[in-house]
Amino acid sequence: MTKRITSTDAVHGGDRKTKPYDAVPEPIVASATYTFEDSDEIVAHTQGRHPRADREEYGRYGNPTVRAVEARLAVLEGTEDAVLFASGMAALTTTVLALTKRGDHVALFSECYRMTRELAESILARFGVESTFVPMNADDLAGALRPETRLVLGEMPTNPHLRCVDLAKVRDTCRGHRGLKTLIDATFATPVNCRPATFGIDLVVHSATKYLGGHHDVLAGVACGSAALCSLVRELRGVLGPVCDPHAAFLVGRGLKTLALRVAKQNESALAIAAWLEKHPKVERVFYPGLPSHPDYALARAQMSGFGGVVSFVARGGLEGARRLVDHLQIPRIAPSFGGVDSLVEQPAVMSFYEMTPEQRRDQVGIEDGLVRFAVGIEEPEDLIADLARAFTAG
Ligand SMILES: *Cc1c(COP(=O)(O)O)cnc(C)c1O
Repeated sequence: MTKRITSTDAVHGGDRKTKPYDAVPEPIVASATYTFEDSDEIVAHTQGRHPRADREEYGRYGNPTVRAVEARLAVLEGTEDAVLFASGMAALTTTVLALTKRGDHVALFSECYRMTRELAESILARFGVESTFVPMNADDLAGALRPETRLVLGEMPTNPHLRCVDLAKVRDTCRGHRGLKTLIDATFATPVNCRPATFGIDLVVHSATKYLGGHHDVLAGVACGSAALCSLVRELRGVLGPVCDPHAAFLVGRGLKTLALRVAKQNESALAIAAWLEKHPKVERVFYPGLPSHPDYALARAQMSGFGGVVSFVARGGLEGARRLVDHLQIPRIAPSFGGVDSLVEQPAVMSFYEMTPEQRRDQVGIEDGLVRFAVGIEEPEDLIADLARAFTAG
């Protein structure tokens, strides 16, 4: 079990006691560049002997608003440092590119975000980095590792079936392979429910667009890890340029303050909704790691302190059955994404895999046609359940 983060960490983690102008929150520093007193100061800065630790130079290399959010994220994730990005994919691609070179091999767990798969199959391949997709367990991972494997990349839990991988076993499998790093995209877990670094995972990536921001009003991403790894990632961010704008960073920082509160409510509501759905005659199957019916229930209980706000389920009646239900819901709006205060709902078969035939969807990506992904917000669970009950009857 991971040590739980608290709202005290979420509000104050990494905080400096006194802010500019004695403000309570970190102000938004909207400055693309920074002035120097004289040429000597620039020399001191470029030679790394500037007396002020918070000396900035140029917006692509760092920003005080961004750094304050990074400091809080590092505390929440239990890592030495964190690097903020313009989106989750910016964090992921920059981190992967920082750790790999031509001739290297990357092992990925097979249920992963569609653009992560795209990164491996289309982009890394172009730069001579091979990748292998492996089933989500440590034994298959052990069989896929090669002397040139430099990175193991996985998500925990996964989208949309909320599969979990045993993080300690992944760490043990990778131990002894020289130069091999482990990276977990823990967007679905949030540091409230699981902190992969505490299991010995090297790097933790989040789409901060989801729970960390929490309000569906900002795109951002973060990579968390040791000071040495984060410094590599930060350096490449300075080259590639996918920086988080300070206004966006401010929204992430504000969202983070209520992270523990929001996720606690979402955990509780999603569990209640998942249990209710499992008993509903118009539901074939529910995927929620907090239910004993989930294949990873025992593992999730052992390594997570909550199971998150996303519930996936297969509605009877296939594509049409799911469509009728989704279209009759009144509280959750139809949209991709999850993790915010507003509940959202979507049909993965239509939203993300529309170009495939039902057979391709089932066999290649394991997406049932009747699958519905319900991203629970902070509305009252009894209202969300009443809405579901009404929509099932109307459909
Ligand atoms: C949304 C998401 C991403 C991509 O994040 P963006 O902020 O949209 O770039 C990556 N991984 C997972 C698991 C996600 O859910």
